[in-house]
Amino acid sequence: MNPQSYDEIDGLKHYKLFIDGGWRASSRNALLDCINPANGEVFARCYQAGTAEIDDAIASSDRAAKEWGATLVADREIMLGRISEVIADRTKEIQELLIEECGSVYGKALWEIEYVQDCIRAAAGDVRHVMGETMPMTMPGQIGMSVRRPLGVIAGIAPFNSPFLLSMKKIVYAIAAGNSFILKPSEETPVSGAVMADLCAEAGLPAGVLNVIPGVPAEVGDRLMADPRVKMVTFTGSTRTGRHLAVEAAKNLKKFTLEMGGKSPLVVLKDADIDYAVDAAAWGVFLHQGQVCMANSKVIVEKEIFETFRDKFVAKTKGIKVGDPRDPETVIGPLIRARQCEFIDGHIGDATEKGATVLTGATHDGRTYVPTVLEGVTPEMRIYHEETFGPVVSLIAAEDSEDALRIANDTSYGLSAAVITNDMQKAMDFSMRMEAGMVHVNDCTISDEPHVPFGGIKNSGFGREGGRYSMEELTEVKWVTIQMGKREFSF
Ligand code: NAD
Repeated sequence: MNPQSYDEIDGLKHYKLFIDGGWRASSRNALLDCINPANGEVFARCYQAGTAEIDDAIASSDRAAKEWGATLVADREIMLGRISEVIADRTKEIQELLIEECGSVYGKALWEIEYVQDCIRAAAGDVRHVMGETMPMTMPGQIGMSVRRPLGVIAGIAPFNSPFLLSMKKIVYAIAAGNSFILKPSEETPVSGAVMADLCAEAGLPAGVLNVIPGVPAEVGDRLMADPRVKMVTFTGSTRTGRHLAVEAAKNLKKFTLEMGGKSPLVVLKDADIDYAVDAAAWGVFLHQGQVCMANSKVIVEKEIFETFRDKFVAKTKGIKVGDPRDPETVIGPLIRARQCEFIDGHIGDATEKGATVLTGATHDGRTYVPTVLEGVTPEMRIYHEETFGPVVSLIAAEDSEDALRIANDTSYGLSAAVITNDMQKAMDFSMRMEAGMVHVNDCTISDEPHVPFGGIKNSGFGREGGRYSMEELTEVKWVTIQMGKREFSF
């Protein structure tokens, strides 16, 4: 890390804001404690942006957008390549930070970095494919065309759970499309934000193309949303925050995309390979301790195979390694916040009071929640409807495939859904009728690649992220005409 990016005070690094290519402490006299979720200790502090810093970041981004938007596509490709090289050189450092700051287990942290590298390759491939069209005009002698132009300043608001992947995906596509970007990282993972700024600075990204301003969420959010120079907000986080930002964006007539929460169903039909289905279901709900938007927290199994599936699933769950996220064998590390354990206890307590049975788990040690399996979950229970964002799964028996589909769609969310079956007629039918932005056949609900139209419907999302879908969201279409000869005017 560039030594200018922090002050060392009392043995702790105090990370600064990254504005207009330089590192700054804040005029706002408040520091954010950065806590290692594995041991609850403060490992760093972060300055928080005040109004002066937010305004400076917007002014810097606005100036930089004009210059960056005029760069040649080849220059943007070269810049993306340089960022990728810096990430490759600093992989170990980023991986350790993701473990320390967000409680990622070893493999998940590495996967985030590999995903970002893949995302950079995909985005570099998209830079030259921001296409327009020509179109016939009814005006004599006129040629019409559509061209796509960068929007200008894009604000990105990111969550804690995959801070590197989810923020870098936004940054990479925004700058690939010729925009400048202001990142407000999560208050749980602000050091990751500083590292992203540092990587881009080391790669030579011009001043102002990326500004990173951690701060009090509503303060930073409100100021970004109210400023007309910010043309779009791209948000990933909870549905509650997303809904609020959508209203603010509408008030200010700003473009927005929202990637929000989920309660994703995995359906296992009676012809499925049960051992495979058990492995898929476990991976799809316990990855990153269940703190994944796409987690299949509801597994719906046809009644003929329910008991066999349940017993095998519980046995697998009991064998999952829980503990130190630095140990490459660990599957379940700590949750991001202590109060998340209380929230999960609340979901489980409500379910058991109303008749659900805990088959394993339902305890925690510090912030580490033991993987938990529930049976007998019904629509009267909160956990049937609400996102738990922890390592908890509800196993639900279905009368038949139609009943399984009904239960799968009985949710206000619509991010990801999956079905495991060897009956391709049913697989196709489910993929068309499952109410989700993404449906996977013979897989769990967690899947992501940088070039696909990633996103949800219903309360899970608005707009899509990835590949050409991002390039379309992050640019605007302009209609251009050229008059050959003289147009005839009526007066
Ligand atoms: P969150 O909504 O609490 O916070 C997300 C971001 O919004 C943070 O940076 C936070 O500081 C900011 N924020 C909060 N209030 C704000 C306000 N008033 N104005 C501006 N910004 C504000 O979510 P979280 O707890 O960080 O993340 C978990 C949630 O994110 C889950 O619901 C999960 O499903 C969702 N998520 C969705 C996706 C997806 O791709 N659909 C991916 C990851 C996480």
